[in-house]
Amino acid sequence: MNRFYPPTRVLMGPGPSDIHPRVLQAMSMPTIGHLDPVFVDLMEEVKSQLKKVFVTDNKLTFPVSAPGSAGMETCFVNLVEPGDKVIVCQNGVFGMRMEENVIRCGGTPIIVKDDWGRAVDVQKVEQAMANHPDASCLAFVHAETSTGALSDAKKLCQLADKNQMISIVDTVTSLAGVPVLVDEWGMDAVYSGTQKCMSCVPGLSPVTFSDKATSKIKNRKSKVQSWFLDLNLVMNYWNSDGKRSYHHTAPVNSIYALHESLCLLLEEGLEASWKRHSDMHQLLKTGLESRGIEFIVPENERLPQLNAVKIPSGVDDGKFRGELLQRYGIEIGAGLGPFAGTIWRIGLMGQSAGIKNVNTLLSAFTDLGVK
Ligand SMILES: *Cc1c(COP(=O)(O)O)cnc(C)c1O
Repeated sequence: MNRFYPPTRVLMGPGPSDIHPRVLQAMSMPTIGHLDPVFVDLMEEVKSQLKKVFVTDNKLTFPVSAPGSAGMETCFVNLVEPGDKVIVCQNGVFGMRMEENVIRCGGTPIIVKDDWGRAVDVQKVEQAMANHPDASCLAFVHAETSTGALSDAKKLCQLADKNQMISIVDTVTSLAGVPVLVDEWGMDAVYSGTQKCMSCVPGLSPVTFSDKATSKIKNRKSKVQSWFLDLNLVMNYWNSDGKRSYHHTAPVNSIYALHESLCLLLEEGLEASWKRHSDMHQLLKTGLESRGIEFIVPENERLPQLNAVKIPSGVDDGKFRGELLQRYGIEIGAGLGPFAGTIWRIGLMGQSAGIKNVNTLLSAFTDLGVK
């Protein structure tokens, strides 16, 4: 049998991002039992670290044992009951998945559409709420990784709150890259992912639920359709009242990795992390614009950590990205859906948001004739 040795890459796509050696080292520590008191203490510490990163006091804050998509599904299956109306904002790929989630939960999605590459239009959402006062939830993507657009989570969540709706917010790409202030903005059900701006290994989805969301889950009329993601059961595994009982086996070594990546993030400081992402975006932007490359998102709606840019004319998308990967070891992302073949998505997420990476990418662009 051949052993597998992955090549060394510079990860500048839509995730996963580069991982700090300390995180990989933590991951390789000896596995212990998931009910070992030492591991139970670690679970408590990870919960308190996550509360700091989400800037919340929410008791129900923990990492779901599966990737970001499972965090998404956790929010929908627990908060949407058959017959519920949910306002779903769509301005890219992930808003479409939210619609699919609502349908599979037996709910009725009310779609608010915006152009790909634009933020969610708050006024349209306000109108949809006026037209559907019986809707129970508002779902939207804070940072659309498919287009590089950042929406106003604060305004949208306040609007949901004012109309007695629960907000379901995708912060997979936003968390640690731009401010996500769960309590201050009144966000209710929030999910993220470890492999984007948190720069951890893929496969975990930090989530947090407000008391309002938690009580809705506890008072459901019907059983949650998914056994694995049923928070009424998972809560007893992640709770801290000493009665932790077996639900599933937590991915022990991945939790070591998450703990270490949260240590790194909190050592740097959340604000410093947001600033680094923004500074690296400015550096990249200067280099791209001097090469005549244009962004597709208006400046005030742009994500620093996901730069969606037009492919320069005359450049073959597949060949260019292939050469970047093969010759320079650099990964950037392709366009999705209507943007396939016309844009690139350059990620500056977590450890990938550094001067060395930005300069390496820009000099590779020059070498490959984009100067
Ligand atoms: C990556 C991503 C997801 C899905 O996360 P996975 O870990 O790939 O399941 C969901 N939403 C957004 C906005 C993302 O960028």
